[in-house]
Amino acid sequence: MSSKRQVIQGVSISNGIVLGVSHVVLPGDFHVAEIAIPASLISTEIDTLEIAIETTIEELYAMRRSALRKAGGPVVKIFDAQLLIAGDYEFLKDVKKQIRSLRRNAAFVYSKAVQDAIAPIKLSSDHYMRQMVVDIEAVAGKVLSHLSGGETKSKKLPPNTIVVSKVLTPNDVVTYRDLKAVGFVVAEGGTDSHMALIARSLILPVILAEEGWKSIPNKCRLIVDGTIGEVIINPTDEEWTKYQRRRKRLGPALLKRIRELSPLPPVTADGYEVGIAANLSLPGPADDILAARQIPVGLYRTEFLYLAHNEFPDEETQYQYYSTIAEKFAPASVILRAFDLGYDKLAVQSDWPAEDNPALGWRGIRSLLDMSAVFKTQLRAILRASVRHNVKIMLPMISDLSEISRARKLISRVKLSLRRKGIKYDPNIELGIMIEVPSAALTADNLAKSVDFISIGTNDLTQYVLAADRTNRRVVSLYNPLHPAVLNMIKMVVDASHRNRIPVSVCGELAGDTVAVPLLIGMGVDTLSMSPNRIVDVCRVIKKIDFGLIQRLVGPVISSGSLSTMMDRLYDMKDSQKR
Ligand code: PEP
Ligand code: MG
Repeated sequence: MSSKRQVIQGVSISNGIVLGVSHVVLPGDFHVAEIAIPASLISTEIDTLEIAIETTIEELYAMRRSALRKAGGPVVKIFDAQLLIAGDYEFLKDVKKQIRSLRRNAAFVYSKAVQDAIAPIKLSSDHYMRQMVVDIEAVAGKVLSHLSGGETKSKKLPPNTIVVSKVLTPNDVVTYRDLKAVGFVVAEGGTDSHMALIARSLILPVILAEEGWKSIPNKCRLIVDGTIGEVIINPTDEEWTKYQRRRKRLGPALLKRIRELSPLPPVTADGYEVGIAANLSLPGPADDILAARQIPVGLYRTEFLYLAHNEFPDEETQYQYYSTIAEKFAPASVILRAFDLGYDKLAVQSDWPAEDNPALGWRGIRSLLDMSAVFKTQLRAILRASVRHNVKIMLPMISDLSEISRARKLISRVKLSLRRKGIKYDPNIELGIMIEVPSAALTADNLAKSVDFISIGTNDLTQYVLAADRTNRRVVSLYNPLHPAVLNMIKMVVDASHRNRIPVSVCGELAGDTVAVPLLIGMGVDTLSMSPNRIVDVCRVIKKIDFGLIQRLVGPVISSGSLSTMMDRLYDMKDSQKR
């Protein structure tokens, strides 16, 4: 293995510095060791393979049954395809023959046979062929995990592991975090992808190194500098020591700075108060400090509880979880967003249907309303956790008024059943919605009449207004939350909320962007909810803002459609005021 020092320039999508050892994950490479097997143990090896296949088939049947119950006909087709693959008699006959002739372990022979089989299919540009590769890899992953006795799932990584992988799902981030990984280098993913958001909320550095990741050897020393988007492969001892020092200074500094913030909420230079809140996903290192500073939770992405468990947690587990958060932050409010699943937020080996356009598909409130048992369980847990009167419910991806009415009906039913059983909850719990879809923004006046608050999800709103997938690096230059079309929509929603006398916040990443903050405040956004690591910088900007001045500029900026115009005029006006 090469121990040559090399520096890769990438883009930081989650801040921080980590030092560690690389763990390179290759797609479709199951990292199976090749072991010579004595002739006397060959039949045991074949029996093990047969058991692994049988167990996989049983699991697939169980997943098929549950898919049929939850999602109906089209979804089960995936399992039918995977069952055919798992039980492919000719393929298995060939694998067994190879185990006998090569005298190698079943896992190695099976994994090699799978990779040989999919190599030509991978070259195809046909959608169905590509889906077949996904299905084969999913089946192979299951068989191999049974062959290793499920070891791969629970295996801990060596301390200070930095995972290097072409792609990472949000779920991967959670799984690797549980295995104690400290940072990531990836080739794909946008700054506002859910993978990036979850990494940021867990304060795990991630560098996007498009081609560069390929030059990182497995098990080499690595420094990931998320402050400037740099990866150092095989650093010198001096660099190692220097970065160790820098890491020490940086790590606790953020938390210390939140602790030391002057009174909250922050006030502009001309005395206008701006609400500040935090976006959280899973218990993280900043929670205690945020709670102690009484910073409310403006967005709790509850779906990460599902991703972390790889299944929908039962009512009791969810209740404990929500109740702990509510208690920790009380009396500050905690907005629990109902499960926002689908698109790029799916559990590993889930029975979610494959979709051609998942961003336009069965995500957010759409899937939740169709899985009413899942939704009701979550609502019961949230309502039970609302006894301190500081919990609010928020619905993701609303695109039509009917979705709010259907959700309200379910909430009323759940409340009724709790009341009948004498279980306590907050009867006046507030219900809010996220505006992330153009149809919702354009009808915000109507929607605002049936909810208690609105939160603008600019991450999704941007991708839907500009037709630019937030996870696709090829369109990253088009994905611009400061585009005049997006700003116009935000302003429309803010005005509609205020006309209907309900508060409005922004909880997309734009709320933590110091360039956008003056603009959002000038538009009249009441609260900015952001990743904890943005709070200090945003508060600093707010204190410098002249609200009256900014307010006068917002209209011309939006109608001129240029943010640079705003910046120029802002500075012109400031200069003319000085003169
Ligand atoms: C958003 O879309 O802006 C948002 C806050 O939700 P998420 O990023 O979880 O999709
Ligand atoms: Mg969203």
